[in-house]
Amino acid sequence: MSDAAVQKADVIVIGGGAAGFFAALSAKEANPTAHVVILEATNHTLAKVKISGGGRCNVTHACFDPAALVASYPRAHKTLRHLFTQFGPAQTMEWFQSRGVRLKTEVDGRLFPVTDDSQTIIDCLQRERIQLGVALRTGERVQNMIPTASGFSLETESMAGSTRWQAKAVIVATGGSGGGYKLLEGLGLLMVSPAPSLFTFKVDDADLHALQGVSVQHVVGTLIPKEGKPIIQEGPLLVTHWGLSGPCILRLSAWGARLLHEQQYQAQLRLNWWPELTQDAIREWLLATKQEHPKQQAVNQSPPAIPKRLWEYLLTTHGKQANYQPSTLWGDMPNKALNLLAEALVRWPIAVSGKGVFKEEFVTAGGVATAGLNLKTYEAKALPGLFVVGEAVDVDGITGGFNFQHAWTSGWIAGQSVLKTPSHVKG
Ligand SMILES: Cc1cc2nc3c(=O)[nH]c(=O)nc-3n(C[C@H](O)[C@H](O)[C@H](O)COP(=O)(O)OP(=O)(O)OC[C@H]3O[C@@H](n4cnc5c(N)ncnc54)[C@H](O)[C@@H]3O)c2cc1C
Repeated sequence: MSDAAVQKADVIVIGGGAAGFFAALSAKEANPTAHVVILEATNHTLAKVKISGGGRCNVTHACFDPAALVASYPRAHKTLRHLFTQFGPAQTMEWFQSRGVRLKTEVDGRLFPVTDDSQTIIDCLQRERIQLGVALRTGERVQNMIPTASGFSLETESMAGSTRWQAKAVIVATGGSGGGYKLLEGLGLLMVSPAPSLFTFKVDDADLHALQGVSVQHVVGTLIPKEGKPIIQEGPLLVTHWGLSGPCILRLSAWGARLLHEQQYQAQLRLNWWPELTQDAIREWLLATKQEHPKQQAVNQSPPAIPKRLWEYLLTTHGKQANYQPSTLWGDMPNKALNLLAEALVRWPIAVSGKGVFKEEFVTAGGVATAGLNLKTYEAKALPGLFVVGEAVDVDGITGGFNFQHAWTSGWIAGQSVLKTPSHVKG
């Protein structure tokens, strides 16, 4: 390839997702005269922003204490604390609001544009890109990248053929789906193998499947690994036609992502269906109900926290071992059975047989190890001038806007640092 065919840039950002856009905008803002280019493999930028949050884009979470915020990132959480101090949810809100995007906070702390439309976020990022003069090339996949004396040489593939690029610095924002792994292989970066996070649990129980659509406002789930410590998370739970979903399950999947991956998604789960009460208090409730409603069928008096259809399922399943039926009158329920039921309600055993195949808010754990990055800048320790941001880094959060927050945080910090780190100040 002749020199004339070589395209030059000061900063190349690989990947036009949330983290790549933010990194490019931040780099251009910090270096207005620099030529900053985003190279995006597909014909669509910000595709995940578009589908995120059910099409509404959960931009961030109203959690303004970095120490509390890090608790929502199962991996590498300690290292993130000071990064969120530099650019956290408050700065994200300020960034979008000062560019005309009005945001609203929902009762659970999630932030969305008031339009309830992810296109509002996309339009804002695109407007900003055009205003600042960040170049964008779509349909151009980076195939390989090698360090050179003056920075990096990249080869891209598009409909028009291949192109060689030279850049002083590169920001890798290829997301979690593996695009970046091949690219970074052989460059000496410390990598953590990918594993899915934020998934639903498959349970082989047709009677449970029949309850699809039933939800419980608050359960506590305990995942019991074959080895190691149990993982405990709580929140709403939803029964689906293949098993269990809802925030409690997604949180368990996030904290247990590595472990479940190693165990081929076979695990024991214990659910506390009524965590507001202790086991003793539940037993008291059952005994009091027996006294007050002796002539009523057990199925017709359900605990306030448990939907009636679920109550019937619980009585049917438990009654098979404890010798009663949902239609048994409260007055005929032996006290021993009620004691066992109280115990079962706080420690309900469920065998998880696999990972749900339907994507919820799916992210990837793994990627470039935080230990291999300078976490003041997101620059690779092994390769000065190369930065890695967003989901390509081994950082992932639970649902609620935390994954985008890390995309904004890492993109902003890398963009501010990109031409200012020691490897570049010399020219
Ligand atoms: C259905 C769904 C809903 C979600 N909803 C939310 C939500 O509401 N809130 C939240 O916080 N998180 C949400 N997430 C997670 C969030 O979308 C991601 O964590 C976030 O988009 C990661 O941003 P990123 O820029 O790092 O990666 P991505 O958005 O994946 O972008 C990476 C980009 O790099 C490109 N690329 C890859 N390889 C190459 C290459 N070799 N050359 C050029 N380009 C390349 C890809 O085509 C892609 O456009 C959701 C995820 C899913 C799947």
